Amino acid sequence: MAVPCFSEPPRIGGTLVWYFSICHREVWFMSHGIEPDREDDFLVMGRLIDENSYRRDRHSVSFGDNRFDIVKVEDGTLVVGEVKKSSRSIDAARLQLAHYLYDLWKDGIIAKGQLLFPKEKRRKEVELTEETRHRLDGVYEEIREIACMAAPPKAVKNRFCSVCAYSDLCWS
Ligand code: SF4
Repeated sequence: MAVPCFSEPPRIGGTLVWYFSICHREVWFMSHGIEPDREDDFLVMGRLIDENSYRRDRHSVSFGDNRFDIVKVEDGTLVVGEVKKSSRSIDAARLQLAHYLYDLWKDGIIAKGQLLFPKEKRRKEVELTEETRHRLDGVYEEIREIACMAAPPKAVKNRFCSVCAYSDLCWS
């Protein structure tokens, strides 16, 4: 049975999907409008890499609740690029990009995804499959359940805590 929820359902954009793969506590913070520290060194570094890479392509394109880092057309196909500072969280990045492709697909737009790691000079192609769409439907449901919780999930140390812009809310 669905959990009764007395708060607004969250607007599920790519960042929330990304956080879901990293830490559910982050999902709760973000879905309650608690922004991470914008001047956090790791966030600033990510923004700088994003803004200074692949300059010929179109940057920061809004679509629904999402913001695509890069949009371009290759061989007649729309390609959405997501720039990351490292491949350390590649699974989260893959899910975030698949979410973008799924939102476009729901609007009748077939696109391909590219994960871009400029510092590592790497790129990975991402395609939307039926399996991924199914997985994402489950993720959206779980995100809504986390957002409905009266308090954030307990902080549990994980390998991303040292680079998390919310760490002051967990460990100070
Ligand atoms: S510091 Fe760790 S536990 Fe706290 S929100 Fe960030 S990743 Fe989650």
